[in-house]
Amino acid sequence: MILFNKPYTTEKEEEYLKDCLLRAHTHGDGYYTKQIHKFIEDTFNSPKALMTTSCSSALEMAAILLDLKKGDEVILPSYTFVSTANAIVLRGAKPIFADICEETLNIDPSDIEKKITKNTKAIFPVHYAGVACDMDYIMNIAREYNIKVVEDAAQGVNAKYKGKYLGTIGDIGCYSFHETKNYSSGEGGAILINNDKELMRRAEIIREKGTNRSQFFRGEVDKYSWVDIGSSYLPSDILAALLYAQFEKLDEIQNKRKNVYEKYYNGLKELEKEGKLRLPIIPEYCESNYHMFYILLNSEEERNHLMDKLKENGISSVFHYLPLHNSHMGISLGNKQGSLPITENLSSRILRLPMYANLKNEEIQYIISEIYKTL
Ligand SMILES: *Cc1c(COP(=O)(O)O)cnc(C)c1O
Repeated sequence: MILFNKPYTTEKEEEYLKDCLLRAHTHGDGYYTKQIHKFIEDTFNSPKALMTTSCSSALEMAAILLDLKKGDEVILPSYTFVSTANAIVLRGAKPIFADICEETLNIDPSDIEKKITKNTKAIFPVHYAGVACDMDYIMNIAREYNIKVVEDAAQGVNAKYKGKYLGTIGDIGCYSFHETKNYSSGEGGAILINNDKELMRRAEIIREKGTNRSQFFRGEVDKYSWVDIGSSYLPSDILAALLYAQFEKLDEIQNKRKNVYEKYYNGLKELEKEGKLRLPIIPEYCESNYHMFYILLNSEEERNHLMDKLKENGISSVFHYLPLHNSHMGISLGNKQGSLPITENLSSRILRLPMYANLKNEEIQYIISEIYKTL
């Protein structure tokens, strides 16, 4: 069976894990977590990065930092993972789902504009597949209406928009280091605070259960206590040690994924010319991190048929998000089926192919030939 995803390991994980144990500091904010913060800040050009237990917790922290509450509205794509919406709903605020663009499957900025009301507090764009949203357009809307932008860059680590790293463009950025993402600690994430010093100060507190413990450890206050709401959003230093080994191979891992992406792309071009499928589009302004390789079939039936055929031949391919506005929760929040036509259409025709750094050339060629056979 060719798996859909296989986590990447370098030769350094064991050494760093042992070292972490020897340092006898396995709780949060130890040596390796500090290395991760420095790495993100230096490499991605971010003024303040904090590692979290997941991207879901980074998104929850962002919602707390923006003081989202009942009566507030936040615009996000329906075509995303549940965590983007949960972060909003957990604060009592209302998710307002926008449609996506045909080319990138990213949120459509013109639909954001249509959905702005006097209650809109924030936009949560999601960089799907490691391909950037139209950030200039989104940041202009945000400035015009004085609302905040939180980038869900779970899939966008080490990808760029017009030379800027994803996650560093909005007010806040959120990364995921889940096993299925490009760089992984099993479970993990990070929150990036991009301009507001007060948010940077408060983020440390929220992440440390609402205490000013971080200031205490730096000797800025002489005791620490409960000063705000918060939770335990900081991961064990063991996870940071795992991630650090991968960060040292940042570009090597990305180049391997790029190679897989390009082999698929070139191998399937002919089928696109024949109108059998559509290949992913990376706009000029974007440098992808090659998180995903998907194809769009002509109908849901053709998609499901191809997925079954690939499975019969030992290849695991998968579809993706069931639109949130049509989910059980989405409907119970008052959303209607048929309200986001592009989201509903594309999500029923997408198929993601096996994608990981060490996918072998023979395997890629085999997958391509099986797709030709069926189509
Ligand atoms: C993976 C993912 C998340 C959640 O990441 P976790 O680290 O597992 O919490 C959130 N948003 C998007 C778009 C994702 O792809």
